Amino acid sequence: MEHMTSNFHSHTWRCGHAVGTEREYVDTAIKAGFTVWGFSDHIPLPGYSPERSAGMRMTMDQLQGYVDTVKDLGDEYGEKIELHAGLEAEYVPALFGELSRSAVRAGVEYLILGQHFTTGGAYSGAAADSPERLRDYCRLVKEGMETGLFSLVAHPDLINFTGDAALFYDEARGLCLRAKELGIPLELNLLGLAMGKHYPNPAFWCAAAETGNRVVFSLDAHAPEHIAIPRVIERGFGIARDMGLDITGSIDLKRLK
Ligand SMILES: [Zn+2]
Ligand SMILES: [Zn+2]
Repeated sequence: MEHMTSNFHSHTWRCGHAVGTEREYVDTAIKAGFTVWGFSDHIPLPGYSPERSAGMRMTMDQLQGYVDTVKDLGDEYGEKIELHAGLEAEYVPALFGELSRSAVRAGVEYLILGQHFTTGGAYSGAAADSPERLRDYCRLVKEGMETGLFSLVAHPDLINFTGDAALFYDEARGLCLRAKELGIPLELNLLGLAMGKHYPNPAFWCAAAETGNRVVFSLDAHAPEHIAIPRVIERGFGIARDMGLDITGSIDLKRLK
């Protein structure tokens, strides 16, 4: 069986819907054989009150503590595991400049793109047959990648489109082609696989296989229990083999500066 030794998509208690301290994730990751671990908790949004952030993301004033905690653990654990402090962010055109500046100021090393909502704020993962929403999602992901600041696209197949399959394929191809041109790997999300969510979506990965994208497995861990999941990882490799996906072990972080 193939092994997974690096993961760049992980959350912490700070977002309000995950559990476990940074240290618990790191201890569990080491035991599970990981040598590189990136935290990518949900980015705080400027102007969001604690009430509006509750259950979804940390608040702006928690950001520095998050980054410092990961960096201190990185120093402490030294040789055992390489740690990185990142954030999972949506691409919101009007907010993105301010968002990335606050991430840089806090010492965040990298960003991954998780487009959880489309223009207007509707959840991307809610089932819908609107072509406009599908196109909007794909446009936001492509524009997000074009900022040059994202190291990885998290669950690119989060959009839950129930309409015309040919249209979906066209849009997915467009997204995959742009990711390939920009050299950004796409994530096959193992939490979705473990939990039987609507992603990984075979129709999307068909387009990625045809495009020849680099694909990375991520745990998207929302609890330390989501780390040691060898059977799910094995299923992931099985899917990759069957679909002809090019799985890459690690990614080149686009470091924020
Ligand atoms: Zn989450
Ligand atoms: Zn995530």
